Amino acid sequence: MTADRERRCTCGGVMKFSGRQALHMNGSPFFLESSTEFTQVDVYVCPDCRKVEFYLPELPAEESLEENAMRLYATASEKELRAILADPDYPPDVHRGVRRLLEQRTGHKA
Ligand SMILES: [Zn+2]
Repeated sequence: MTADRERRCTCGGVMKFSGRQALHMNGSPFFLESSTEFTQVDVYVCPDCRKVEFYLPELPAEESLEENAMRLYATASEKELRAILADPDYPPDVHRGVRRLLEQRTGHKA
């Protein structure tokens, strides 16, 4: 995992991992092989000089877009998940992952 690797700030402070976030890229994802419009980044903050840095996480190669979506939206509300399902801009794999999350929560087919 990159999360617990120590990262040094240019000021000499130790960058503190502050979570994985999804950046909406408006059609210009860093990961060109994925067709999504969001890119996951690990966010590091320097407590000394307040610098913030983004790092691309090393995604497991075997992780599908569907699994990626399930992990990414694991904490999203049911309302948010349904909004994603209703949005045709998301790729089918993302919809499948979101549908599986909804099924897990509600216990029946979404
Ligand atoms: Zn710093």
